[in-house]
Amino acid sequence: MRIPAFLFTFLLAPCMASAQDAMLNERAAKDAVQRIVRHSGLQPGFTVVENLDIPTAIAYIKGKQRIIAYNPGFMARVMDSTCTNWSAISILAHEIAHHLLGHTLDPGQVHPGDELACDHYSGFILHAMGATLEEALATQEVTGDPHGTHRHPPKHARIQAIRQGWEEARAIAERREPEPFHVHDAFRFVVRFTGDANTYYVDAEDRLVWFNNLAEPIQFGRLEQFPNKDAKYRLSWNDEDFVVDGREVIWKRTATGMQMKVGTMSVYARQ
Ligand SMILES: [Zn+2]
Repeated sequence: MRIPAFLFTFLLAPCMASAQDAMLNERAAKDAVQRIVRHSGLQPGFTVVENLDIPTAIAYIKGKQRIIAYNPGFMARVMDSTCTNWSAISILAHEIAHHLLGHTLDPGQVHPGDELACDHYSGFILHAMGATLEEALATQEVTGDPHGTHRHPPKHARIQAIRQGWEEARAIAERREPEPFHVHDAFRFVVRFTGDANTYYVDAEDRLVWFNNLAEPIQFGRLEQFPNKDAKYRLSWNDEDFVVDGREVIWKRTATGMQMKVGTMSVYARQ
């Protein structure tokens, strides 16, 4: 019998002795922030506080103080389900990046690309601190949203941003240039999913890509020709499979076998 991945995580949790000290108290959180800041070569200048009224973690400015607030229950749950304390470090590193990149100066603005920049930083700093790629990605693997929201980009893009940051730090440590990802600019199709504000493209090599705010391509999946009249293409997106019909509609088969319309894929030239 194949055990679903989520069940495996559940069976294994709490899987480490560290799960007992997984309640991230303020001292541990402050210590973690100090360690992250030390690895960035900057002087620490953050106020770290517990806050039960926020759902996750947040960076904001109050007066002249740069504050990082976190919900200890949320942190404990993430550390418990990822089985690693690196997940707490990556969340704090992400919040530190919001301050360092100036995002907290204008809290009213929402730029999903800002999230990716902070994810990139968390991957970078976690490598510098000695985390493996899996440890750097652990938080996103359990908390990411597959289709993204108004404020947060889709999980796959966030994982890719962390991976890029981690790889970049590794390349620097090994004194070599990171390898760029090339996209064939002659796009074939434009892909949009219902309820997802992002636009995706199918390039000339049938790769499904998305661009972050730095115009860096991130591959989400592939397009395949389907030898079938009703379903022209198969679109693999992350770890899901969709079917595209002759009228440019993207369909998904639900668990009950029903077909559900989930987006459109139109020819690029017609845009
Ligand atoms: Zn953020």
